[in-house]
Parts: sequence; structure tokens; C-alpha cells
Amino acid sequence: MNGPLIRRGEPGYEQARVGRVFNARRPDRYPAAVLLAEDAADVAAGVRLARAENRTVSVRSGGHSWAGWSLRDDSLLIDLGNLNGLDYDASTGVVTAGPAARGGLDLAPFLAERGRAFPAGHCPGVGLGGYLLQGGQGWNGRAMGWACESVAAVDVVTADGAAVRADATHHDDLYWAARGAGPGFPGVVTAFHLRTYQAPAGMWHDTRSFHPGDAAVLLGWLHEILPVLDRRVEPVLAATRLPGVPLHTGRAHPGLVLLLHTTVMAGSAGEAAELLRAFADGPLAGKELGHVAGPTTLDEECAAQAEQSPDGYRYAVDCTWTDAPAEVLEPLLSRLWRELDTPHSFSIWYGWAPGRTLSDMAFSVQGEVYIATYAIYSDAADDERYRDWVHARTADIARHGTGVYLGDTDFTRRQDRFLSAANYRRLERIRARWDPEGRFASYLTADPEGLNVHE
Ligand SMILES: Cc1cc2nc3c(=O)[nH]c(=O)nc-3n(C[C@H](O)[C@H](O)[C@H](O)COP(=O)(O)OP(=O)(O)OC[C@H]3O[C@@H](n4cnc5c(N)ncnc54)[C@H](O)[C@@H]3O)c2cc1C
Repeated sequence: MNGPLIRRGEPGYEQARVGRVFNARRPDRYPAAVLLAEDAADVAAGVRLARAENRTVSVRSGGHSWAGWSLRDDSLLIDLGNLNGLDYDASTGVVTAGPAARGGLDLAPFLAERGRAFPAGHCPGVGLGGYLLQGGQGWNGRAMGWACESVAAVDVVTADGAAVRADATHHDDLYWAARGAGPGFPGVVTAFHLRTYQAPAGMWHDTRSFHPGDAAVLLGWLHEILPVLDRRVEPVLAATRLPGVPLHTGRAHPGLVLLLHTTVMAGSAGEAAELLRAFADGPLAGKELGHVAGPTTLDEECAAQAEQSPDGYRYAVDCTWTDAPAEVLEPLLSRLWRELDTPHSFSIWYGWAPGRTLSDMAFSVQGEVYIATYAIYSDAADDERYRDWVHARTADIARHGTGVYLGDTDFTRRQDRFLSAANYRRLERIRARWDPEGRFASYLTADPEGLNVHE
């Protein structure tokens, strides 16, 4: 092995255990050792070592799992932080990316220099590994689909330490699982081969802030226009207390603001204006607290997202998909929004309707609207309170929900369906074939019997 293997108790262990975990709420789970892999050969050697020591293997790419999935007691944690290379083949338009390459900070600028684009995550620091394996909700997702739908092939180290490439014609079951299984994937992905797209001419935004008292009218209107909005238009309504929202001169910040931030990637300013026109004609036109619109860039948007979810804070997070109408959601959301009580905590209503037919892949649960809530705070003494709150309020909405997106879940507190029942059964068969001994740590759950169960 080229990379260092740091066993529990040795110098550097704590840094290797949690130094790259984004959430400052670090779980009390302790791997037996951490391997800082240098390359795919190290990963294979790590898997063989875990077999010899009869340990499970846990994996880390970008360290952005809110629930700290990479941290498993007594496992061998293979940290892929050094596998972050990017290589573009202009003849195929395929980029080969290491799993620790970050979607917004590494891949997006690398592709932009070559006139290409990929639906990377909204938050720029997220690692491609976890993001792509669980689906990938990225910029322009309504039009481009789930990021994993643009995965052409994966290079995988399997449970017996072999290196294989899986695509539509080779090991197609593994390829199917790599697009949606998330931490239940039975292998370690050492490289992703991604289809890229011609970069759009530009990006524009329309941003309006509203008083929380207008929530019923606002949501009713959004649910009405969403199914007929052009797919290139991406509307997100965020309840936030951050001061940096548009406010017309003389208007006072009401404490909590409903910020409707809509982006569109288009061919020209005229086309973007046409696509965003629906937002000028709503029932609250002229009653906004503030409104700004115009050209923007992916860099600016990513920077704003990073500011909204800053480093160094503790996070408790949950989500649900829902097809419920606005009148059902509004009282539940308004209650949740009023209770956001730190400067950074926020909650989003993210419009995805109309539903798309998905590719044949493990990923299989979505809905018309995505609701996710992020409690963001500093004091460890508040952990239990915020965790209880975020999961209880999300559960209220999830009663009208269709399931969850793995990326914003913590199954140690609340679980729900993340795959269709048929896809979950198929995944179990694939896992039994590729990982019969359960070498890979898989889903972190407080209740294995309740995994993927939708009440
Ligand atoms: C600030 C922030 C913003 C976010 N924004 C978005 C967003 O815009 N869109 C979105 O879809 N999600 C978003 N997420 C969720 C994020 O995509 C998931 O948490 C994802 O799992 C992070 O991937 P990672 O590689 O950084 O995480 P890690 O913690 O490194 O990985 C999570 C788990 O995925 C599995 N895994 C990761 N890499 C591999 C691999 N190479 N081989 C096998 N298994 C692997 C392992 O089980 C691992 O423990 C965000 C998260 C944060 C913290």
C-alpha cells in the first residue's frame, strides 16, 4: 500500500477519522483504522486487508454525508480524498473523475474551460462519490435529470478486491446499482466516467422576497405554475433569516423571509426573460419585499449556496418528496418555517414537477416537490433538540409524502422509502451477488427492519 494506514490510537487517527467530515456534529463512531488511499490499487489492497481482518469497509469521498456515513465502528475506513483527478476525452465528451473531485469546485470549472457542463450539486464542495451514487440533485436538474443519469460507467473495486468496469454492457447489474444505491452500493467506486454537455450560453436569475404571511398565496401560485414551467427553469423557495435578501428601499426585514430564487440556463438574455416571465405575473406581483433579477454565473450561485450552508457548524437535516397540494403543505410548512430559530437554519420548497420517467436504474423515488430542512447551529448541547425538531417536523410533512432523497437523510433518527419496492428487492439480489459476506458497511440505520419502508 502506498497510502498511510492509521490505526485507532496512533498519532493522526482523530484527524483521519473526522478531519474531512463537513458536519461539525461528528458522530461517536470509531473505525479500527483509516487508509488514506493513494490510488485504486490501494483501495483493492484495503479491501483485501479488511477481509483478512474480518472487518467491514466504510468509504469516504468528499465527506459531505450529513449523518457521517463513512464513520462505522470497528470498520476499515478507506478515505478516497486523494482520488480527485479529472481527465476529459474531447472525442467522446466523457470526463473521467475521481470520486473525491468536488462537483462545483473542481469539475464545473474544469469543464467550463472546455465549453462543457455537467449537472453538479448546488453546493460546490460536495464530493462526486456520494453525490452520484445516491442520485445527484444538481443545477438544472429539472431539465438535465438526476446527475447519475449521466454516469456512463464506473470503475469499481469489489468485495474480493478485484477491479472491474461496469457499464450498460459489462456488469450491468453493478452499473444499475451505482445509479441510486448510495451507501448500499456493493463496492468502492474509484472513478466515474461521466457524459458531459455543451455549456449553455449563460445563466440568469429572478429573486423575490416575500413576507411569511403571504405563504398560502405564494405556495398556491407556485403549485399552479410549476407543472407548466419550462424544465430549464429551476424555482426554489427558501425560508431564511439571513439578512442578505433583496429588500426594496425602506422595507424592514421581517425576521423570516420567503426567498423565491429562480435560475435558468438559456441561450440568450431574451430567451431567459421569456422563460422567467411567469414570475412577473403572480398574485403577489408588486407586493414583494424585494426583487432583483439579471445575469448570474454558476460560480456566483455556488458561492451563495456555500454561504447558506457554511463550514464549521453543526447540522441536523431531513427531507421528503411530496405530491400534496399547496393547501395541505402550507400550514405544515408555515409552522416549520416560523420555528427556524438560528440565523443560518433554512428550509426549502424545491419544485420538480412535472414528473419525468426515470432511466432503468436503482434511483426510483421522487415527487412533484422536494422539501428539505437544515437546522444549523453551533452548540453541541443543542444537538438532541434540533435533531428531534427537524425529524418530527419533516415526519409531519412526510405523512403526505412519497419518500426521501438519500442525500438529506439520517436513518438513525427517521427513515422512509428511498427506492421503489421492486428496485430495493433487485438491489438486495445484486448486493447478495457482489458482496455475499456483507463486506461493505451499507446503510446506516437504527432499525434495519424498517429500511426502505414507507408508512
Ligand atoms: C453542504 C452540503 C450541500 C449539499 N448539497 C447537495 C446538492 O446540492 N445536491 C445533492 O444531491 N446533494 C447535496 N448534498 C448531499 C450530498 O450529496 C451527500 O451527503 C453525499 O453523500 C455527499 O457525498 P460525499 O462523497 O461528499 O460524502 P461522503 O461522506 O464522503 O460519502 C457518503 C457515503 O457515500 C458512499 N460513498 C461515497 N463515495 C463512495 C465511493 N467512491 N464508493 C463507494 N461508496 C461511496 C459511502 O457510503 C460514504 O460513506 C449536500 C451535502 C452538504 C453537506
